[in-house]
Amino acid sequence: MSDWMDRARCRTVGGIEVMHHDAAGYSAVAADAEAKAVCAPCPVREQCLAYALELEGTYAAGFRGGIWGGRTAKERAAMVRPSRAKAVAA
Ligand code: SF4
Repeated sequence: MSDWMDRARCRTVGGIEVMHHDAAGYSAVAADAEAKAVCAPCPVREQCLAYALELEGTYAAGFRGGIWGGRTAKERAAMVRPSRAKAVAA
């Protein structure tokens, strides 16, 4: 486990049912908003998002549903798509 994970706000607020709700059967929009509210003041939000983006497009990303770094899976995928496209074209 990385050091920043010890300071993750979702360790004490929200919990896995809120943050990684894809399999929990919530309304996705309501659940995303609830989880993003937990992330907003998180002191390690940047590290969390960077970690999730590193995994984007890999097999491991398939297990990283829900909100990471205040972003949905769809938002994270959109963030990495342009840079991966440039890398392939170079
Ligand atoms: S940014 Fe959100 S998902 Fe990431 S550690 Fe903080 S509270 Fe948890």
